[in-house]
Amino acid sequence: MRILVVEDDTNLNRQLKDALTDAGYVVDVAFDGEEGHFLGDTEPYDAIVLDIGLPQMDGLSVLEAWRRDGRNTPVLLLTARDRWSDKVQGIDAGADDYVAKPFHMEEVLARLRALVRRAAGHASNEIEAGPIRLDARAGRVTVDGQAIKLTSHEFRLLAYLIHHKGKVISRTELTEHLYDQDFDRDSNTIEVFVGRLRKKLPADCIETVRGLGYQISEG
Ligand code: CA
Repeated sequence: MRILVVEDDTNLNRQLKDALTDAGYVVDVAFDGEEGHFLGDTEPYDAIVLDIGLPQMDGLSVLEAWRRDGRNTPVLLLTARDRWSDKVQGIDAGADDYVAKPFHMEEVLARLRALVRRAAGHASNEIEAGPIRLDARAGRVTVDGQAIKLTSHEFRLLAYLIHHKGKVISRTELTEHLYDQDFDRDSNTIEVFVGRLRKKLPADCIETVRGLGYQISEG
């Protein structure tokens, strides 16, 4: 899952990036509204953390511009404490949720998990596909009740496929959602990761749909 953080406070930006990276997300950052707007407009994020008070272009204008252009990526707004008007305007502008500053990092993580889940149409932290059960909060995967060990890359790949079960996911989509901007986007890399992941799962859990991509098996 790939997240964009738009926050001009360099300290807070770094704290968010570190916490989200530790939680298993791939994170891009922007420090002003224009840069943030550009990235959100051109890169396919799974969710965006957006501060309201930003230089160049404020967060509400950024959000309004995305929504006007039909970008419906889930957005978690960071608002100033006790500014209820920010919250109302934020929701009106198309925010999916907000957290007031100062916040506990755990709250941001919990709200983001919920946004990503809801965007994919799931109501719980635990998602199943056939014998596989993935707990997004604990970062744990079991097969027929037995825990299996995955690297962070393998976990992200499986989480993406399982959040989008029932759909065929192209290599390009996987590459765009699982790696940050600087990653060498060679689709062979995805094949290597899929191959490794397959070795840790029962046979046929990940189907290759010729010419289109991969799909998690629900059988
Ligand atoms: Ca700010």
